[in-house]
Amino acid sequence: MSMEIKRECGDCGLCCKLLEIPEFDAPKGKWCPKYDKNKGCTIYGNHPTQCKKFKCLWLLGVDSEKNRPDKSKVVMKFVRPKDNILQLQIYVDQGSPDAWKTEFMQQLIEHQTEKDGRTIVIYGKQRRAIGKRHILKGYIDKLND
Ligand code: SF4
Ligand code: SF4
Repeated sequence: MSMEIKRECGDCGLCCKLLEIPEFDAPKGKWCPKYDKNKGCTIYGNHPTQCKKFKCLWLLGVDSEKNRPDKSKVVMKFVRPKDNILQLQIYVDQGSPDAWKTEFMQQLIEHQTEKDGRTIVIYGKQRRAIGKRHILKGYIDKLND
């Protein structure tokens, strides 16, 4: 029997800051211009498809209930780049550079590495790639572009 975890964004909104929103030229790490700290998304309902579809890993049940991204200061998602290696992306909020170093996150990263996945920690303009050597081969060069 599987138990579905129901979580809601509430007044979190951290993805509106840490993810890039090309429609509004909002780079990673800067609040989307459509975000209001009191009201949340000011164009909700007409917000871009990217936003409508986005579910961070916390929303999907990863990490404990109390660690909603606005509290944990990280937004996580999985992507599958062209090389088809499952990639965990961890966006870290400015001012909390160590937020990705909790015991839980380190276990998640280790698991990802063991499964031949890759983890990218994104903090401002900095990137850190974590994984087995053959998984990162060539990737570090791309990150340094
Ligand atoms: S970071 Fe996750 S929980 Fe927070 S608003 Fe975005 S999708 Fe919702
Ligand atoms: S358009 Fe709305 S939901 Fe999308 S990033 Fe901006 S504030 Fe957030």
